[in-house]
Amino acid sequence: MNRSELFRRTDEVLREKSADFRVSEERRIAALYEKIPRLKEIASELSGNMSRFMNFAFSGSKSEDEFNFYRKKSLLLQEERKKILASHGLPEDAWDVHPRCRKCGDAGYTEKGLCECFKKELSALTLENSGLSSDYKNKTFDSFDLSYYTRPEDREKMELTLDYAKKYARSFDKKKPNLLFMGRSGSGKTFLSCAIGKACAEQGFYVCYVTAQDMISEFEAEKFGKASKGGGTERYFDSDLLIIDDLGSEFATQFSESVIYNVVNSRLNSSGPMIISTNFRPQELSGFYHERLVSRLLNEFLTPVFADVDVRELKKLGHGS
Ligand SMILES: [Zn+2]
Repeated sequence: MNRSELFRRTDEVLREKSADFRVSEERRIAALYEKIPRLKEIASELSGNMSRFMNFAFSGSKSEDEFNFYRKKSLLLQEERKKILASHGLPEDAWDVHPRCRKCGDAGYTEKGLCECFKKELSALTLENSGLSSDYKNKTFDSFDLSYYTRPEDREKMELTLDYAKKYARSFDKKKPNLLFMGRSGSGKTFLSCAIGKACAEQGFYVCYVTAQDMISEFEAEKFGKASKGGGTERYFDSDLLIIDDLGSEFATQFSESVIYNVVNSRLNSSGPMIISTNFRPQELSGFYHERLVSRLLNEFLTPVFADVDVRELKKLGHGS
């Protein structure tokens, strides 16, 4: 889904939830009336009183006595209802059909902009749509385990990088720098890029995670007119944060390099941050890609340090905590 589809879907989901909630509210009130029949009588007396008052108001009569009569009657009935509810230990608005979100009355927005309920739903859908929902569920900052980095110099590097990643995610906006995670396989690059992506998606940013190979395959499918399963390559250009994992593991062709260059270059020009991870060292990048791509990667990206440790291997051997 692209950004506008995500918004539309969020709106749909909220409407569905609001309608379901209304049904459950009506059931709750029906049960309340069954338990305390006087409440139902009060409700119908109040509505009868209201319609008689409306007739009176539209009749053009200016009788103050009559006006006071309707007003007094309404107040007495409301007072009685309040007392009955209190005697049953219920809140005084228990008779009313409530919206699912009391802040916006299920409109999805308030005068301050998008309501929290909308943002929450949008961020859940964004995460689901980001490529980070299933396989990467456990890759969060809280589950990043520094105890695998046993050498002090490794640990120090990873503490620094973890801290930077957390701050990056916490204060994320479209002006954040691009990050190039370089390091050996298993050093925590994918883990940290996923943790950043999830934290950003949870804040409602439109995040897209993809491996270099999958991204290229999608462009290939598009080129040959096949429908792609990922929802279109548009998201590689218009997402708030694009995470490309495992650059260099793709099957290298002229086409694959032009795809990567095109995405990287276009995002550099239109300022949408990227996080790219690769097992390559700088000199290996130069051997693999053309200079124009390598210079963009090395000059326009920040490169946090990663320890020279294969955590996946250590986990298999049962080291760490
Ligand atoms: Zn709301």
